[in-house]
Amino acid sequence: MTETHDLIVIGGGLVGGAIAWGAQAKGASVVLLDEGDIAYRAARGNFGLVWVQSKGAGMPPYAQWTRQSAALWPDLAARLHAATGTDTALHQPGGLAFCLSDEEFDQRAALIHRMHNESGDIGTRMVSREEVRTMVSGLGDEVTGASFCPIDGHASPLHLLKALHQTLTYRPNRKVSHIDARPGLFTVRTGEETYIAPRIVIAAGLGSRDLAPMVGLHMPVSPLQGQIIVTERMRKLIDYPTHVLRQTDEGTVMLGDSQEDVGFDITTKVAVLKQIADRNTRIFPALKDASIIRMWAALRVMSPDGFPIYEQSERFPGAFAATCHSGVTLAGAHALALAPAILGGTLPDALSPFASTRFNQTAVA
Ligand SMILES: Cc1cc2nc3c(=O)[nH]c(=O)nc-3n(C[C@H](O)[C@H](O)[C@H](O)COP(=O)(O)OP(=O)(O)OC[C@H]3O[C@@H](n4cnc5c(N)ncnc54)[C@H](O)[C@@H]3O)c2cc1C
Repeated sequence: MTETHDLIVIGGGLVGGAIAWGAQAKGASVVLLDEGDIAYRAARGNFGLVWVQSKGAGMPPYAQWTRQSAALWPDLAARLHAATGTDTALHQPGGLAFCLSDEEFDQRAALIHRMHNESGDIGTRMVSREEVRTMVSGLGDEVTGASFCPIDGHASPLHLLKALHQTLTYRPNRKVSHIDARPGLFTVRTGEETYIAPRIVIAAGLGSRDLAPMVGLHMPVSPLQGQIIVTERMRKLIDYPTHVLRQTDEGTVMLGDSQEDVGFDITTKVAVLKQIADRNTRIFPALKDASIIRMWAALRVMSPDGFPIYEQSERFPGAFAATCHSGVTLAGAHALALAPAILGGTLPDALSPFASTRFNQTAVA
């Protein structure tokens, strides 16, 4: 069986899904190929924040890209809902990052000040011990304040993934191990099937590292583990997402999330889960009485500097790289800004700082 499309996207996670959806929404014929459950899949194990306030310190183009994505998210959510009936549970009431000591408060204030100077004011501000208690009740005595950003939000990552897949030609259980590349012509074989297209996107998360060289790209990503705890459904605890806690529409409370450099290990560790639980119960003492119903570990997809990689292959024009560690947050930009650019054949200048050549420069320096 041979299929010809305008675009082949390899990797059916949140990055590949959003790009494929955005390209199809522009009228392109797209096929989305995914390895399946056996692969490491960050899109199925994440926290669900659409988070802006701390993104891009030291890299203003990333801060701008994140802000653009948060602004595009409501349009994406509305269009997915209209097309599929799936509600991505997007809420953007602003987000809080709680501080548990004066030192943490000062460090957070310095970060917000830096972000403001580097990337412009989006209304992020520090909120005092007293004011934060007028915004949120039930806080523990140790909470000394918080930073608040009015454009932060959260969504259901699983509903987002489902909605993206619903209208696509999505082919799971298709591991790609070889790409025949010529400029503007790419042939992918998975078992008995052959897919041909003039454009291809490598968005295979941790699998991208091996696929990228087949089309002249460089995606040196590696895993960074995060662990998450989910409580039973609780009465309303908080209206805002925070960087370590959010309450879902169903009432469960998600607590997270750690950052452990442990390779391809997705086992949870009691010591890490304890740290997560300890911090969150210091913020909300009521959590001490909550039952835990689930916990898991999943692997982030990290580039060497933590920022995304977007690039078109010089050797094989028509082949693109796309990876990041905030695929929920960036779904709006991936679907509604990156996908049209890929179809058009040229990435915008605003994305040139995300080319992988920056890693070569670092190595030389
Ligand atoms: C604990 C944790 C918390 C997180 N919290 C947030 C958050 O709050 N907000 C946020 O924005 N982001 C968050 N993230 C990050 C977010 O989940 C990822 O950025 C996003 O899921 C990455 O999507 P992806 O499509 O690049 O990778 P993945 O979701 O890993 O998808 C890659 C896909 O490629 C497929 N694949 C791999 N190799 C091949 C191959 N050879 N052939 C075919 N298919 C292949 C796999 O099957 C997989 O489905 C979190 C991540 C973790 C782990």
